[in-house]
Amino acid sequence: MDHQKLAAAKLWLISPSPSPSPTGGRGDDPRDLPYLSHALYALIPVVDNDVEKLTCDEWWRIYINEEWFDAATVPEIGAELAHVTWHLLAEHADRARDQDVDRSTASAWEKSADATVAHTLTQDKLRPQYLPSAKDLDLPDARSAEEYFALISRLPPPPSDGEGDPDGGSLGPADGCGSGADGLTRRNEYGPNTDVGAVSKHEATEIRRKVAVDYDRHASGRGDDPGDALRWVKRTLEPETPWEPLLAGAVRRAVGWAVGRGDYTYTKPSRRSSSLPGVVLPGQHKPVPRVSIIIDTSYSVDDNLLARALGEVDGALMALGVPGAQMTIYSVDAAVHTVEKVRRARDAKLVGAGGTDMRLGFRGVEDERPRPDVVICFTDGDTPWPTSPPPGAAVIAAILGGRGFNLPPTPKWATRVECLVDDRWARP
Ligand SMILES: [Zn+2]
Repeated sequence: MDHQKLAAAKLWLISPSPSPSPTGGRGDDPRDLPYLSHALYALIPVVDNDVEKLTCDEWWRIYINEEWFDAATVPEIGAELAHVTWHLLAEHADRARDQDVDRSTASAWEKSADATVAHTLTQDKLRPQYLPSAKDLDLPDARSAEEYFALISRLPPPPSDGEGDPDGGSLGPADGCGSGADGLTRRNEYGPNTDVGAVSKHEATEIRRKVAVDYDRHASGRGDDPGDALRWVKRTLEPETPWEPLLAGAVRRAVGWAVGRGDYTYTKPSRRSSSLPGVVLPGQHKPVPRVSIIIDTSYSVDDNLLARALGEVDGALMALGVPGAQMTIYSVDAAVHTVEKVRRARDAKLVGAGGTDMRLGFRGVEDERPRPDVVICFTDGDTPWPTSPPPGAAVIAAILGGRGFNLPPTPKWATRVECLVDDRWARP
């Protein structure tokens, strides 16, 4: 492979554009993205004629089709390099794992991740024509990959643990942008331990930090849209993400999914829903989603933290225009103590304090008619869980705990949010 051409493409991305532009700004001037250099020079090129153009794996290797490469222009190669680099910087592989992306949902995730990359590439005049923007996909602008994923897939979590295809089956070299974009290893990719070299998780974290610092410096004053790149910089430079927006975001996504499913009959049918047991099928127009909340009221749950978490949920529902939704609240420890309808989650009267078995709350939810669309369970996590989610509901498991503690696992079918109190609070 012509390594000089690869080097030229990297230089073209990071060099300042000459002023005045010799091409009259027609498009082939260098792109002035010096902050990408730490990432670009960490990429490990591998020739692989099974890929269509250029893909990436999780270890920062880029797989390059030589025929395409030889025919491509330097700007075309530069655009592909920037494309996969943003997948790696944005940790799309780990984030896909957080969303339990598997082979069946890989293409929805890939579209979502690509839409965020497209946003960044558009600003830098680097977006290849084949890469759809959020607008092309009829999605709102400048959202996160997770939000797009919820909007595109409009699916509840997988039916139960142990089903599905957790290792992603065998995706091939031509499937999407590579494991660097979705965490699913392709047949043609090398594993972590080979002599082709690899960027370790630790090194990748360092690279991201350096790029974020440089980006911040370079882009400040440029007045860019608040898009995915800027959000990424913030997240990278402020590693301790507060949990409140995460919880609110999870509620927004769950409700968004339920609302999306509500007008299911009026949109094109999802190919997947028919194969999913328990999904509520067409014919039910439900503009206001029904929300049920299961609250662990055993001694081990911190009351102040719980109150804050319930406040967040109320805020998120209010912001979505679901204030009048009558929520059903279950107070549960080793038994269900109260079931009540409230307008705000924080109005719930909480009783109890014995051991913990959240399955009882879920049993109550399963018996509800009409069925709830969104179920949020607040618990310290020391509880048995049902083997499958309530039919047709998006479930959020909000785990209340202390920073620095190892918090118990939650089932794969629930979206996990860790609500952490600072370490001045210790568990009894
Ligand atoms: Zn991509």
